[in-house]
Amino acid sequence: MSSAIAQVEPLTTARALRGPFDYLLPEELRAGIAVGSMLVVPFGRREVLGVVVGLTEHSEVSEEKLLAPLRAFELGVPIDLVALAEWIAAEYCSTIARALRLVLPPGANARVAGRLGMPRQRRSTVRRPQHLPVGALHAEPPALTDDQLAVLVELRGLLSEDATAAQLPAQRLLHGITGSGKTEVYLQAAAYALERGRGAIVLVPEIALTPQIVGRFVARFGETVAVLHSRLTPAQRREEWRRLRSGEARVCVGPRSAVFAPIERLGLIVVDEEHDSSYKHEGDPRYDARDVAAWRAREQRALLLVGSATPRPESRHALKRLRLPRRVDGGPLPHVQVLDMREQVDALHPETTQALAEVRRARGKAIVLLNRRGWSNFLSCRSCGTVWGCPQCDVALVLHRAAGLLACHHCGHRERVPVRCHCGSTAVARHGAGTERLQHDLAAALGDGERFPIFRLDADTLGGDGGREQPDAGGVGALLRRFQEAPAGVLIGTQMVAKGHDFPEVKLGVVLDADATLRFPDFRAEERTFALIAQLAGRVGRGGEGRVLVQTIAPEARAILYAAQHDSDGFLDGELERRAALRYPPFAHLVRIVCHATEAPRAQAAATAIRDRLKAQLGTDAAVLGPAALFRLRGRERRMLLIKTADRRASVSAIGAAVQRAARVRAHAGVSFSVDVDPQ
Ligand code: ADP
Ligand code: ZN
Ligand code: ZN
Repeated sequence: MSSAIAQVEPLTTARALRGPFDYLLPEELRAGIAVGSMLVVPFGRREVLGVVVGLTEHSEVSEEKLLAPLRAFELGVPIDLVALAEWIAAEYCSTIARALRLVLPPGANARVAGRLGMPRQRRSTVRRPQHLPVGALHAEPPALTDDQLAVLVELRGLLSEDATAAQLPAQRLLHGITGSGKTEVYLQAAAYALERGRGAIVLVPEIALTPQIVGRFVARFGETVAVLHSRLTPAQRREEWRRLRSGEARVCVGPRSAVFAPIERLGLIVVDEEHDSSYKHEGDPRYDARDVAAWRAREQRALLLVGSATPRPESRHALKRLRLPRRVDGGPLPHVQVLDMREQVDALHPETTQALAEVRRARGKAIVLLNRRGWSNFLSCRSCGTVWGCPQCDVALVLHRAAGLLACHHCGHRERVPVRCHCGSTAVARHGAGTERLQHDLAAALGDGERFPIFRLDADTLGGDGGREQPDAGGVGALLRRFQEAPAGVLIGTQMVAKGHDFPEVKLGVVLDADATLRFPDFRAEERTFALIAQLAGRVGRGGEGRVLVQTIAPEARAILYAAQHDSDGFLDGELERRAALRYPPFAHLVRIVCHATEAPRAQAAATAIRDRLKAQLGTDAAVLGPAALFRLRGRERRMLLIKTADRRASVSAIGAAVQRAARVRAHAGVSFSVDVDPQ
């Protein structure tokens, strides 16, 4: 029996729309349509893409009034991903249409517009990993260490038929220091899932920064792996999706969005470097791929395995833990020394200068991390004190000297470097130093052409000129390769230099201004600072002795001291205590509402109305904080509310309703709203 009426979600961006809508299926379409099928439907005066979310015999609309779909696609979304989209819409206070866009085959929207013609597609063959280093890849699995073996035995148990049949929700945290062999564990767990006829998803932070792990999966599994990364052409992307959907590929490796890979009979989802902030999506729906992975794994009775050397307090609290406490090569972690900068006048501590000079003498390699791009943080007039700020945002403009401009790191605004102030003075002072300046100074002090190059890795060196923090993936890979191939030298850069890559010859790591991340007004500031130092330390001294120097004006800060001791347990215990006391995640959920408007009073009024409504509705289960002013961004004034709640579902739905209601009030015309559940 095939149903006559399809319930379709039209994929429009309108927030107020309440779908699904019923369409009458003509006889010839009935047999082929299922939940997840993609249709083009008449909608108002337009033709839009829609996804079937239900089938029925009866509609509340009389049959004569029902419209029929215009056409259907061969490809559809797997039914479990339709359910996933419905969950995401509710969980992150978004709409089903927006959530469905996340799970569509790549390019589906473009095809409706007719630009790519109908779904019949030519196969694209260029897809093997041209840009991935295939250095020391062993396709054959090595014999495991005792620690790895113990972990794998437990994971195999969880992946076995018995565990699946018992429907145990299986989630594990793999807490292993850098170089302890976590990736090898992922590989062998995935191989075991494949043996059992099940598929696997492996999430990594950003392919360009973690090419080695992708290379290892491809070397081990060959054509069974589909890799989704940002450098694929649209055709390659569609082809990878098709290979997964058809079952030709059973393992998918990719960043955040790979959590939506259309894999049937999923057995394992790995989240590598689970502490990485790139797992949170910044557009609507503001999903967190780690939570999506957990939901999908639970629904599919698959094993969720999240791994890190610096796990989040949330994961430490919620998940049973497996440990890899030693490096595979048996080497020690590098010695970390904290350098007090409070009495120092120069940017580099004398110890740092000396250590870098030693690296140069020994023709070795060093990594220097400074989490600040550009030449100077800001410019001011020595005569009248004016600070050059962004006309669109209330922040100072950063000098990018080589590009000859001042740039806003929030909106991308640029302008020429000023020669004089509006007061007439030509005395312009430059304050602070970023990576561009550091590269210049180090090159002057230590550089020696090809024999001792100073590389810089940040968004500016990768094709940009000071605007946005949007690294080009190809550029990152090429630069890291040049550093790897150079006989000696220094790599300086923003936090990107602390991620993923292994460089066996790096003997010195330096963190400058380590407390910079601590100064952010964010409850995750300590966690980030700890992870940054510990992760950089993990890049240093692989295969031998290493040393890390941490420059800071807060030498007794908890995050810095624990990182210097390599004591992630000590740090996590203290952090969980602090979070429990302050009712922060994982002991409560946070939701952030931001009201944006051209004029501050409007944003304030809308935020106040929402706050009053929520206070009345949520009672004592939730704390509603604010409105608080955020700095003006892209010409928009912003007011924020923060809700701390124990009952996430109830609060999210009350918040959704309150925001919708505020959006409909005439007095709030011109105000826009964004809701972020679990903001980062
Ligand atoms: P992690 O992911 O914890 O940083 P990796 O899995 O990358 O660690 O392992 C670190 C290095 O040790 C890699 O070069 C890897 O190929 C190698 N390795 C991992 N497990 C083994 C093993 N059992 N025997 C030999 N080498 C191993
Ligand atoms: Zn002036
Ligand atoms: Zn700006």
